[in-house]
Amino acid sequence: MGKHLEKLAVELGSAQTGCVTSDEVLIPLKKAVDIMQLGVTITDMQRKILYTNIADARMHGYEVAELIGRDVRIFALASSHNDLVPEYMQNLSHWSRDTLNCRKDGSVFPVRVTSDVVKEVKDGTLSGIAIVATCEDITERKRSEETLHLRQQVIESSTNGIMITDTTQPENPIVYVNPAFGRITGYDLQEVIGRSINFLLGEDQEQIEFIKIYAAMHEHREGNAVLRSYRKDGSLFWNELSIFPVLEEDGTIAHFVWNINDVTEREQHEELLEYQANHDALTGLPNRNLLADRITQSLANANRYKHQVAVLFIDLDNFKFVNDSLGHALGDRMLVILADRLHKCIRSGDTVARYGGDEFVVVVSYLEKSEDAATVVHNIQEQMFLPLTIDGHEFGVTCSIGISVYPKDGHDVDTLLKNADVAMYRAKEHSRNTFRYYTSEMNDRVVERMIIERHLRHALEREEFEVHYQPQIELINGRITGVEALLRWNSPELGMVCPDRFIPLAEETGLIVPIGEWILTTSCRQNKAWQEAGLPPLTMAVNLSARQLQKKDLAGLVEKILQETGLDPHFLELELVESMVMRDVESAAAIMKELKKLGVQLAMDDFGTGHSSLSYLKRFPFDKLKIDLSFVRDIMTDPDSAAIARAIIAMAHNLNLRAIAEGVETEEQLEYLRLHGCDEIQGFYVSKPVPAHVLEKLLREDGRLWKPSGPN
Ligand code: C2E
Ligand code: MG
Ligand code: MG
Repeated sequence: MGKHLEKLAVELGSAQTGCVTSDEVLIPLKKAVDIMQLGVTITDMQRKILYTNIADARMHGYEVAELIGRDVRIFALASSHNDLVPEYMQNLSHWSRDTLNCRKDGSVFPVRVTSDVVKEVKDGTLSGIAIVATCEDITERKRSEETLHLRQQVIESSTNGIMITDTTQPENPIVYVNPAFGRITGYDLQEVIGRSINFLLGEDQEQIEFIKIYAAMHEHREGNAVLRSYRKDGSLFWNELSIFPVLEEDGTIAHFVWNINDVTEREQHEELLEYQANHDALTGLPNRNLLADRITQSLANANRYKHQVAVLFIDLDNFKFVNDSLGHALGDRMLVILADRLHKCIRSGDTVARYGGDEFVVVVSYLEKSEDAATVVHNIQEQMFLPLTIDGHEFGVTCSIGISVYPKDGHDVDTLLKNADVAMYRAKEHSRNTFRYYTSEMNDRVVERMIIERHLRHALEREEFEVHYQPQIELINGRITGVEALLRWNSPELGMVCPDRFIPLAEETGLIVPIGEWILTTSCRQNKAWQEAGLPPLTMAVNLSARQLQKKDLAGLVEKILQETGLDPHFLELELVESMVMRDVESAAAIMKELKKLGVQLAMDDFGTGHSSLSYLKRFPFDKLKIDLSFVRDIMTDPDSAAIARAIIAMAHNLNLRAIAEGVETEEQLEYLRLHGCDEIQGFYVSKPVPAHVLEKLLREDGRLWKPSGPN
């Protein structure tokens, strides 16, 4: 080893022991090496450590004295000892590399080692070589590099587009975009760097939602908005944009991160759903939902600007005939064509909607005077009547139109529609292809009946009916032994319509036949379901109408329903009112016999209101008499009613029938009936007719709605 190198090493080493030479340069130099964080080692060519500073020894978990004279490979992993061919052997020059070093305790840590060769040349020949190496613990740096790398990877591989902008520049230019940004927008990195992000909004810069983003940027906080954005090729995509401020160490904001989520599919799906909820599937016209909105909006405007609004209710004449004779498919095609014609008759601010089957509604807004609606009506009727050919069939379509006008004929959607409907009926009554303005005189019972009838025709197919069940209890023990099935009609147009208003109509029109079949099936199926759910068996009482009795094969129908639903006939009870059976005693008796043969039970409903005589009663195979509620109502106040009720009970028992009282509303009535031997009761005192799930709850709870106080 060269002399002065040796001297340097010795002197550097002796600095730790406080032995300082007088050399002016060496003193501060030694001091510097001692206090620096970087490890410094000097080794000879045999890898022997000649010198190491405190930092280097500590970094490796040693004292300095332990290291002097040791092989420098003490720091290297055993596995890499052989790799440590000193670089100076190869080129004798400066080198630097990252590697792993070992501490005294065996733990391993990353380091950056930089070495250089110090050569001593004497008289032109190389007289000595030493290697000076610095060693830096790079654990922290490695860790943050790895984290950074990981983050970079996440950003690069994200499916969301990510941009970074520089808020310190006036235009907040883009300084970075990830690959997904390119995939979503079609732009290259080079095309967007340095630009303000506004170009993504294309010509569509005035988007209200963007205000949210501006506000967030201004206030240096997070923000998000759903924006219409445009790809490089001009196509639209829905951009769910979120921005996040990046906080610098000094608390300022120099960058924003922009997250772009392409939600086009979701938005389109939502749009589609909204469209479907508001439009008629066949014609694409607004449906009732949207119609109601549009009318409401028109009324609000009309109110503000003192205009009038006309609602035209349009019903095609004889459309049923087309449908029935040429088929629904052709009928549908006709409706589509007519919808299109109607659409062409209206101004842009007006609405044409499909109301139902062959009914359309036109809303004419901004009317100066109500007579102006007639002009629109004429135009519509003219357009509709234009020749129309489908599959070689030629049609001349006419329609009847009713007009109601806001504010004169109503202040809300329902009233205006209903009155326009009434007027349409009046028009149709008069002759086809005409129109009528609504007048208050029109709104009489006849028209109401007509309207109910029209809606009733669709109620079954539109599933507007429901069956409620009213418990019947045995007076001996208070147990529910049966229920009466009672029809309920929840009409979207008319609201809840009570049976007294529509059942007579359903009878008149014959609609009761399909409706009655539906009730029978529904209630038998329900009864079977309760039994299968383990509830106590009940008798299901179902009302029959005169029309059903007149149908030839009533027993056949009942048998079929029992088979289909699997209900034991014994648990079905059919209620007939006396007027029904008295009309044609012979045939009624024959039908009832057939029904009895099936095993079902028969009850006479509303008993006491007709003119039955005991002799007739004997001819019918009834099991039960139901005392009409009119007697029960007055039982405590009117001695005649009380006498009739008692007589019916006695008569029933004489004939070996059970007596049930309906319409029991008070405890006194119940006690009176019990005292006089009535077998069962039914009435609000015990329970109103309730939906199936409510009844099921009652049955599960106890099965008793009233408990007798006596020894029973
Ligand atoms: P109904 O067969 O005599 O039915 C009993 C009626 O009395 C039911 O009226 C019931 O809700 C009502 N009611 C029960 N308990 C009380 C009470 O404590 N006080 C009072 N004031 N009323 C009570 P709802 O349901 O309005 O039915 C009326 C009528 O409509 C029925 O008289 C029946 O004739 C007919 N109806 C109901 N559902 C059907 C059905 O599915 N088919 C047929 N053909 N007719 C039905
Ligand atoms: Mg009844
Ligand atoms: Mg009754």
